[in-house]
Amino acid sequence: AGKRAFIAGVADDNGYGWAIAKSLAAAGAEILVGTWVPALNIFETSLRRGKFDESRVLPDGSLMEITKVYPLDAVFDNLDDVPEDIKSNKRYAGSSNWTVKEVAESVKQDFGSIDILVHSLANGPEVSKPLLETSRNGYLAALSASSYSYVSLLKHFLPLMNPGMSFVGFSRSLGGSSLSLTYIASERIIPGYGGGMSSAKAALESDTKVLAFEAGRKNKIRVNTISAGPLRSRAAKAIGFIDTMIEYSIANAPLQKELSADEVGNTAAFLASPLASAITGAVIYVDNGLNAMGVGV
Ligand code: NAD
Repeated sequence: AGKRAFIAGVADDNGYGWAIAKSLAAAGAEILVGTWVPALNIFETSLRRGKFDESRVLPDGSLMEITKVYPLDAVFDNLDDVPEDIKSNKRYAGSSNWTVKEVAESVKQDFGSIDILVHSLANGPEVSKPLLETSRNGYLAALSASSYSYVSLLKHFLPLMNPGMSFVGFSRSLGGSSLSLTYIASERIIPGYGGGMSSAKAALESDTKVLAFEAGRKNKIRVNTISAGPLRSRAAKAIGFIDTMIEYSIANAPLQKELSADEVGNTAAFLASPLASAITGAVIYVDNGLNAMGVGV
């Protein structure tokens, strides 16, 4: 039977979430996505109107199908957490069941189980401020949206995740795997990646190890994170230095080419497959090797 993936953090066809969805679809997985509530309307409209059709084409020529789009706001675990101003906000009031707990419940109701969980979302309201100028609220918001959101998603989806299976051939080629996206600013100084976002990625990477232990022992689920190189996504453009980062990578990385989102998507498909059955708690670099450089050349 085909495997089912839930990918949190898809709102257009430019980001890593979309590319991961495509690679998993190409490997035969059924695709469910979680889309940030404020972005839901435009994403669904664009999908329906065929705006993404060109980028839905899979290697075999067929179009990726997204079985269902769930509204999601990963900074809220359940309805009790939601403040009044959000509840009454027009964009939020138009949808329902978008807290993490409710989304997991809806997916369980609709499909029973999933095999693959992907977290491809981040938000840091003060990302353009240096850490020394970041407010407590800005810092905590970055951690809430970019790090705890993963703990929460995994916690709520674990009960509906099918455990991984040993390598018995490609008929069971995907399953029992969870992953997130991180960035090297967690461990090296990247001026411009501010607002506590570097801190948030450090937390995400450390949590990857602890969660790998807990979910591995309890549920036989593998937990990994991909440290991706620079991509001109919507989120990255909002930070403001993405073109400089792409140029820097092309100039300095061992592999002097622009990174394509598909390269990250394909790594995600590998990590979700039994080919990666002994890989858990790992940070996997998909960055043309830039992380290995000690100095620019
Ligand atoms: P993206 O804009 O495609 O994805 C970010 C998504 O997060 C968006 O769809 C946005 O709607 C969603 N989001 C924000 N707050 C949310 C919330 N509270 N609840 C639910 N969804 C929310 O951009 P991307 O660059 O592909 O980002 C995906 C992941 O990749 C992020 O974790 C990012 O940090 C990571 N990453 C990106 C780069 C890069 O250069 N683009 C490099 C390394 C890592």
